Amino acid sequence: MEARIKDSKVLIVDDIKTNREIIKAIIGTRYRTYTASSGEEALATCNSLQPDLILLDVVMGDMSGLEVCRYLKSDEILRHIPVIFITSLESMASEDDCWSVGAVDFLLKPVNATTLLNRVKAHITLKLQTDFLRQIAYRDGLTGLFNRRYFDEQYDMHLRQAQRSGVNLSLLIVDIDYFKQYNDSLGHLAGDDCLRLVAGLIKSTMHRPLDLVARYGGEEFVALLPETDAVGAAHMAEQLRQCVAERQIDHPAAPGGVLTVSIGVATTRMDRPSTGQDMLAQADAALYAAKQAGRGRYVIASQ
Ligand code: GH3
Ligand code: MG
Ligand code: MG
Repeated sequence: MEARIKDSKVLIVDDIKTNREIIKAIIGTRYRTYTASSGEEALATCNSLQPDLILLDVVMGDMSGLEVCRYLKSDEILRHIPVIFITSLESMASEDDCWSVGAVDFLLKPVNATTLLNRVKAHITLKLQTDFLRQIAYRDGLTGLFNRRYFDEQYDMHLRQAQRSGVNLSLLIVDIDYFKQYNDSLGHLAGDDCLRLVAGLIKSTMHRPLDLVARYGGEEFVALLPETDAVGAAHMAEQLRQCVAERQIDHPAAPGGVLTVSIGVATTRMDRPSTGQDMLAQADAALYAAKQAGRGRYVIASQ
């Protein structure tokens, strides 16, 4: 834990250079520090850097610290970054504002070095612990992909978002063919390796930032592709089929001697909103059709 605390990234945001330098001088030897001189720069840095903690000035030029924090807390990913406000504001109301936009802590300028160091350490420790627990709760231990619990949570949100914005969302269910025989002929440990390998291939194929790949069950995976219509989804399914075929993974008990996957594809329709359950059932029926048609292929759900 100590080593990871030292590797933590702290973003210092203040429009006055001297203020940034004072804070950097206090915490700079214990953490990896980065600076931003405006709200806009802070948000851009958060997206690229994913800091573990933000020390945020309240009063800045164009975009106030409060606005920055409000924005961060509305973002699905950035909301997990704790924000400590550092400010010289006098009025009580402003201090209340800092709490109400979602700050975890508050420090008054001029900062006391010991207090700053201890507050930063406490919040970084908490952040790392929370990240660790989230990792356990939402990740599949074998493949490192998201697990079904995480998928279920995100699926609903993405579906509602797609319906609100009128943009298509596609869902792929990917199932390894003859996987029981794979285990039976090569052993369970080889089976586990194979699951990890296929998980990696799916992940590298569905690589847009919004794409979500999860392990849904034993040898079954799902890929959620926001902003992707049926044509795009079919393209991705074919890419994945090819990617697995090209790897020529030995499967002594499969008819062709190599491992294949079957894929069911479903896409939202704008003229007829569907529920998450509908779409999963459609993708599952398409997967079944792919199995029936001989495996090693994808089928698009008929709606
Ligand atoms: P199909 O081509 O119709 O998909 O047949 P299949 O054999 O792939 O499907 P079935 O559902 O009959 O078997 C799935 C197998 O996946 C059974 C189980 O032993 C294996 N499996 C599930 N989870 C794991 C795992 O974590 N590790 C390993 N090694 N095997 C697993
Ligand atoms: Mg299977
Ligand atoms: Mg299966």
